[in-house]
Amino acid sequence: MVIHARHQSAMKYFEYLMLTSTKDWLELYTEWEEKKTVELGLALISPRIFKQYLSIDDFTQFQHSTQHVRNFSTRSAGHSVCNSFKLWNYYCPLARMDDNALVPDHLFPYAEGGPTIAENCIWLCRTHNTMKINDIHVYPWEEYPPWLDNMLKNRKKFYETRIRNFL
Ligand SMILES: [Zn+2]
Repeated sequence: MVIHARHQSAMKYFEYLMLTSTKDWLELYTEWEEKKTVELGLALISPRIFKQYLSIDDFTQFQHSTQHVRNFSTRSAGHSVCNSFKLWNYYCPLARMDDNALVPDHLFPYAEGGPTIAENCIWLCRTHNTMKINDIHVYPWEEYPPWLDNMLKNRKKFYETRIRNFL
């Protein structure tokens, strides 16, 4: 059986995610600084890690301040094709399908810590968007997200000022 390289990255990501519940966040952050692996970096921004230390209101505020609002504005113009190739390696054959308008979505899911910014946006037709939802197995792990380093630095600051005192 052929296992796609992205699936292996997804597995690595889940393994790191599990580590965050047993290992100190800052210790893992130091490990990321040395290795700079996408899988570890993305595991370290998981909202789940921070949610447990915050009230619902504080968590919502925290999420908005680092990931921005939940949804992309559909008014951003200039996109006329479904970008299915980036995720599944084939061009969308559904262009002329009725009721299949293009929608902007998070490349790395918002629920997993992905920000609502242009660099983390992918336009897909409604059908492909429904297929993707929060599936990180199709995420392009081979590309280093341009926003990840800054996001991690902010999380580190947050961890040091808010959470370390809490522990
Ligand atoms: Zn499509």
